[in-house]
Amino acid sequence: MEQHLQELINKIPTGLLIGDTWREGSAGETFDVLNPATEEKLTTLASATPEDAIAALDAACHVQDQWAHTPPRERAEILRRAYDLITDRSEEFATLMTLEMGKPLAESRGEVVYGAEFLRWFSEETVRDYGRYQPTPEGKNQILVKHKPVGPCLLITPWNFPLAMATRKAGAAIAAGCTMILKPARLTPLTAQYFAQTMLDAGLPAGVLNVVASATASAVSDPLLADSRLRKLSFTGSTPVGKALLKSAAQNVLRTSMELGGNAPFIVFEDANIDEAIEGAMGAKMRNMGEACTAANRFLVHESRAEEFSTKLATKIANLKTGNGLNPDTTCGPLIEQKAVDSIHELVQDALDRGAQALVGGYPQDGPGYFYQPTVLINVPHDARVIQEEIFGPVAPIITFSTEEEAIQLANNTEYGLASYVYTTDTSRALRTLDRLEVGMTGLNIGIMSNAAAPFGGVKHSGLGREGAAEGIAEYTYTQYIGIKDPYAS
Ligand code: NAD
Repeated sequence: MEQHLQELINKIPTGLLIGDTWREGSAGETFDVLNPATEEKLTTLASATPEDAIAALDAACHVQDQWAHTPPRERAEILRRAYDLITDRSEEFATLMTLEMGKPLAESRGEVVYGAEFLRWFSEETVRDYGRYQPTPEGKNQILVKHKPVGPCLLITPWNFPLAMATRKAGAAIAAGCTMILKPARLTPLTAQYFAQTMLDAGLPAGVLNVVASATASAVSDPLLADSRLRKLSFTGSTPVGKALLKSAAQNVLRTSMELGGNAPFIVFEDANIDEAIEGAMGAKMRNMGEACTAANRFLVHESRAEEFSTKLATKIANLKTGNGLNPDTTCGPLIEQKAVDSIHELVQDALDRGAQALVGGYPQDGPGYFYQPTVLINVPHDARVIQEEIFGPVAPIITFSTEEEAIQLANNTEYGLASYVYTTDTSRALRTLDRLEVGMTGLNIGIMSNAAAPFGGVKHSGLGREGAAEGIAEYTYTQYIGIKDPYAS
């Protein structure tokens, strides 16, 4: 590894953050973190055991009450300092993300801006989490409504947005006055480790944020979900794991926020501006190598525009440059691991076997590194697995429709309901379509819509709750109602 990269890696704490100390795991176990572009080892981290997880909860519980009563302004200023520090360290964060996750450096820089923005947004919201005081309708007594922090939280994050998924949860929890245990994904823990150190540098009191990376996720989640002191689970990841965690969370009737998988339709109506739709499609499909829960999974294109759309999309996608994300000319990095390459190729092969054609790509690329050639598939049967399942890779399957009704039926024909995209220049059609789509989010004539000030989340099997925006803080508070006797009554 080049010297400046090694120096960066050497700065990252390798232990578990419990209370005020980065420490070894209680069993001395470790796991390696790899670079998916080269398959080389980056470093070795401590792996948390169930005992470590409970020690992290002890630390969180120890300061929960004090933290809940820390003035909102103080909590806000810590978040704001953390925003400034991440911005100062943006090149280090971006490089770290590209090293452990693979995305091109330009996209990592974009994630630093997006991820840091959650801290700035929540710092601004911390002082505005209002309750209310009002008379009862008959005017006799008074109603006092307070928002209180739910208590210690377990935050479980995925590998695809290593910084933003951590700040989106931790920023809201800090704003609400909760303490937390963050369990980052095994594949990309380094960004979370550096994020936690940055929070300490910004003045976050010890114990508010504890970080327990582990080779075995359930070694952390099982004991914590069984412990009645934990009050909330916020999870971002796949739907099957989310469902299993929801069952475990039922033991202690936890508050849960679940950001799960997606199968986003990208609808292009006959009146769409195709060049704008292509630009949107490149963002919605190819950002993060397609490894995004919001990624366009199915392109539904009106039959009269399908050839034009497919040809233009294939031309753009053929121009992508696959390679190590640290190379400045790379526009599509590696996938996260070999398993991802294999499962994406299975989906593509299934579509080809059922009669689809690849306009570009359609095969993995030789290593080292876990690369898949960006792919456009046409004539894909509706029952192909690539249409039914979350692809999580740089593969764009295109299917056609002939009526607005058919487009909406196809779009809703999935168990998921996270993101969707609609391209049309007809306002009435846009409003009709938005009204009928069963999703948490729609990009209307835009291909990238995530924003710290917007409520992010899904319906159906895509999840519960919202992250970002004022809704994001509400996920970490509970409402307490106090009925007050008529102050004029004798
Ligand atoms: P994953 O479900 O495999 O892992 C997510 C996290 O859960 C990781 O930290 C992992 O270590 C942990 N985990 C895995 N098994 C566990 C278990 N049995 N008990 C407790 N924790 C466990 O998902 P992934 O592969 O890291 O991420 C990709 C998935 O995440 C995709 O389905 C994607 O759509 C989804 N995602 C959703 C959003 C959203 O906001 N809706 C955002 C990003 C990713």
